[in-house]
Amino acid sequence: MSKLGCVCGNTIVDQCDNLDNKAYFIRDQDYEKSENYTEDIESFINAVKNDSRDKWTEKYFGSEVYKNLSNSTVIQDIISRYKLKYESTMYQCKNCGRVKIEKGTTNIFTSFETENDQSMDIFKVVTENES
Ligand SMILES: [Zn+2]
Repeated sequence: MSKLGCVCGNTIVDQCDNLDNKAYFIRDQDYEKSENYTEDIESFINAVKNDSRDKWTEKYFGSEVYKNLSNSTVIQDIISRYKLKYESTMYQCKNCGRVKIEKGTTNIFTSFETENDQSMDIFKVVTENES
């Protein structure tokens, strides 16, 4: 998603990292499955130990490109596959405070109105001193 319209007329723009009005979430029903990447990483480590690394990455990713990439990149991409599959996105409109929640990983959003001004900036990082 790069732009999302809000019913208030504002446009939520997502074109950089570290947005203070964006968050990710995993449904409780998917939570355990979302952490199963550890099994895939263990399988990858075993393939490296058994000299079948290239065969493993080609089968797992369906691409030969991983032959030339580092083990840390392979592990990062294993984790990313799980994130893509199970993580959904939320945004808060900076104009009206509505929270837009993604249905599944469909890129379709439903919005919820805030009850008061104290609900603005709910995705901003709060340090211990500020809370
Ligand atoms: Zn809005």
